[in-house]
Order: sequence, then C-alpha cells, then structure tokens
Amino acid sequence: MPAGSISSAPDTAELSAWAALDGLDVGVLLLTADLRVSYANARWTAWHGGDVRSGLSAASLIDETDTLGAMRATLGDGEPRPLNLTLRPMLADLPARRVFGTVRRAATGLVLEVRAESDDDRLALQDVARRLAEVNDMAEVLRTLCDIATRQCGGTGAAVLRTTSGMAEVVAASGDLLPARNRCFESYGSLLEEAIGRSEVVSEDNFSGSGRPLMRAVPELSLGPVLCAPLRAHGDALGVLAITRGPGSLPFTVPERERLRVLADHAALAVHKSLLLQRAQSADRAKGRFLATMSHELRTPLTALAGYGELLADEVIGPLSDTQQDVLDRMRSVTTHLSAMIEEILAFTSLEEGRETVRASDFLAEDLVRAAVAAVEPLASQKALELAVVLPTGSVRLTTDIDKAQQILVNLLGNAVKFTDRGTVRVTLSRTARAVRFEVADTGIGIPLDELPRLFRPFAQVDTGLTRRHGGTGLGLYISRRLATMLGGHIEVESEPGVGSSFCVVLPI
Ligand code: ADP
Repeated sequence: MPAGSISSAPDTAELSAWAALDGLDVGVLLLTADLRVSYANARWTAWHGGDVRSGLSAASLIDETDTLGAMRATLGDGEPRPLNLTLRPMLADLPARRVFGTVRRAATGLVLEVRAESDDDRLALQDVARRLAEVNDMAEVLRTLCDIATRQCGGTGAAVLRTTSGMAEVVAASGDLLPARNRCFESYGSLLEEAIGRSEVVSEDNFSGSGRPLMRAVPELSLGPVLCAPLRAHGDALGVLAITRGPGSLPFTVPERERLRVLADHAALAVHKSLLLQRAQSADRAKGRFLATMSHELRTPLTALAGYGELLADEVIGPLSDTQQDVLDRMRSVTTHLSAMIEEILAFTSLEEGRETVRASDFLAEDLVRAAVAAVEPLASQKALELAVVLPTGSVRLTTDIDKAQQILVNLLGNAVKFTDRGTVRVTLSRTARAVRFEVADTGIGIPLDELPRLFRPFAQVDTGLTRRHGGTGLGLYISRRLATMLGGHIEVESEPGVGSSFCVVLPI
C-alpha cells in the first residue's frame, strides 16, 4: 500500500485527516476492529520499507508491549478542516515514535482515536509501579489505579470491584463508571466473576446491552466495550480492574488487553499491600482502645488502694509499729509504680488518638527543673545517687505547655535514676538565642549505639537483663519525643555503655 493510501473509499474529512497524518513526524497506523491495517502514513510506511499492505495483520507491525498515553483528535462535523492533534502532557514529554489507532463515526462527525506508542514500554510501566508503590492509603491506591488504567489503555472510565460471598462492590470508579461507585450487585453472571474464575482478562463489547448484573443494578450507566482483569496476589483473588469506553466505540485491542493485564498484576500487589496495612492499622486501633479501657479500669481501684494506704500511714485508723510502717512503705512504692505505668499508657493512648493539645503559658525554666528534680528525689536518695542541678546565671523565661515540658523532664530524670546504680544524675539548664536546653546526664549503664534509634519507638526497651529488672512500659521516651515535637522542640541523645547517657530536650523559647 502506498504511503498515505487507504483501504476503502474515503470522504473528504477522512482525506483531510490522512493528509495531516502524512505530514506528521511520527508513524501513524490505523486499524480495523479485527486489528488489520486500514491505513499507514508516510513515516510508518517508510519504516517498513514501503511495504505496508492494506489488510495486513497489525500483530506483524506492532510490538504488543509498546505503551504510552492516548491522544485523541476529533474532526468536527464532517466538514473538511485541518486535523487538530493534541498531545496529553504525559505523552508530550516522552519520546513517542509511533502512533496507531482507529477511525469511527460518531454523532459529532468523524472521530480519530489514535494511540501513541513509545519504544520504551518499560518507562511507562516503571512509572506505574513507582506511583503505586508510593501510596499506602487504600483509597488513594484505587484512585491512582483507575486514573492510570484509563490513561494507559485508552479508556473513558475505570473501576475497581471487590467481591465477597456472592456479592460484588464497586470500591473505586472514575469517568464513565463513576455512577457505579459504591454500588453492590450479585456477582453471579457478572464479568467480574468470569475474570476471576478464568484468571484472565475478559471482555464485553457492548456492556450496556449485555444485561449483566452491574447494568441491572446501575441502569443509568452508558457503556460500550468493557475489559475486566483479575487482581490476584499471593494466591488471593482481590477483585478486578475494569476499563470501559463509550457506547459505539471499537472494542479494546490486543495490546490494550495485554496492557491492562500487566497493570492489574502490578496493581494487585499494591492493593494487597494496602489491605495488609489497613488490617494492621485496625488491629492497632483495637489494641489502643483495649489499652485505654484497661488502664481506666485499673486506675479506679488503684486510686482507692492508695487512699486506704494514706489512711493507714497517717495512723487515722490506729498507731502502726515500725514493721507495719515498713510494709506500708513498700506497698505505697508498688502502687506509685503501678500508677505511673497506668498514667503512661493513658498518655500514650491519648497521644495516639490525637487528644493532646498544647496549652502554652509563661514561666521560669529553673522552676520547671526544680519541680522535676523534686519528683525523682525520693528514688535517687533511696539509691544513694547524687542529684545535681546546674543553672545558668540569670533567669530563663520560657513560653510553652508547662505540663508537657514537665512530663518530658520527669520521664528523662526518672530513666536516669532508674538506670544508674552509682554516681550522679545531673540536670543542666542552658539557653541559646532561640531555645532552652535541659540536659539530663547520668553515670548509669548506658545504651549501645545501635539501640539508640529504636528507643523512641513505642514499647521499645534495650533487651538486657538489667533493663528487664527495672520494669517499665517502654513508652516513656516515645511519649517524650512526641510531646517535644508538639512543643516545637526535639530530644537529642548520646550514650556509652558502662559510662552513662545524656538525654537533652531542646524547646523553643
Ligand atoms: P521504660 O523506661 O518504661 O522502659 P522508656 O521509653 O522511657 O521506657 O525507655 C526505653 C528504654 O530505653 C529503657 O527500657 C532502657 O532500656 C533505655 N533507657 C532509657 N533511658 C535510659 C538511661 N538513662 N540509661 C540507660 N538506658 C536507658
């Protein structure tokens, strides 16, 4: 077939279109519905040594894995007019070398639907895989997927459908399939069931006229050809990815089917990943709710227990012997420890649920240091540790949430005393132009370098016999860092096993 010639008698609009296509710097191939060549422009013909015969199977000319976005050109209402080709942005910045497509008549006149093909299919697929891997949120994965599928396979709408116990649900949809979003239908007899059952891409050329369950459930849909690819990952059928074109459009081509299949394989992994994440997050929420309920339930009797202890200690009920006082002291230290743990868990759940807010006030940093030191004084003196405070000359005024700042400092000081058996715990207050530093240094057991980043994760503890002996929830540092961040500050840490640790909280003035 000579360059620019056609397989059947053209009208003037077609002639004008083909003349324009002949002038293009890309190869253009127009195909019939059964994928036979009806037209090849000059550039394409030149590539194939002038030997592109009408009726030739497209498979011999097109590498089926070639892919790129679609471009569309509409030729008005039958009047001969210059062809106006617009490249979509994605297409514009990729090196398109070939274009192939189809011509059809629509109410508006002659419509040319052409696809540009890149030599580098990998580029586009890599891009798809990267974009899908970047998103974690299920809703966004599905939205991205519909968007990509529509563009990559030349559709006018896409949807992701999931199925459970005989029912199917459209969990995401775009374009022509948008009216079906969130709708449910019986999966028996559906294209979805066929795709999952046969584990391959299946199609329906005139979906609106098919009487399929989806059409019965959403009769307002107006669809032409539909392609449906199963989403399978690790042996599980997760649903299907469907794309469509408007009524009267030509069926999807073999390369488009193949493209949807490859896309669905990539997408299935992304859907699987976000499903796992969704499950983990909901298990996490359940765990948080359980922790909060349990802590509340424990706090009430514990408060009563502490109250009775105070009554006894104050000898309201009667005088106590030295031995009884001693037993009572131990009981009180245990209840205090338990209360501290419960408060820590409650602080954790409150942070996780986003219930914490910052209430700033103006105060002196040295007052904060003294109050925090007083809180750990009893334990430090019990362990015969020196508790030193180093203050700068002159007062340091600070505006922040004093309760949160104190909670951080008490946590750090509590740890320093807890993990130090002899020597000193020293708090040093200093200021720079814009920040206040509270450094808590100890001469305790220290922390191995590789454990340091882990310590700020919830429930993390350095797994040595010594740490276990000291007990604790493993939440203190996590809470402290989150609170410091809420206050616009941060926590720094340095440590050497056997020498000691230094935790420094830095808060903006
Ligand atoms: P908890 O003290 O309740 O276990 P934290 O989050 O406060 O939880 O601390 C986590 C872990 O970090 C502790 O279990 C301990 O292993 C280590 N750690 C924290 N502070 C110190 C310190 N000053 N010296 C040595 N180890 C520490």
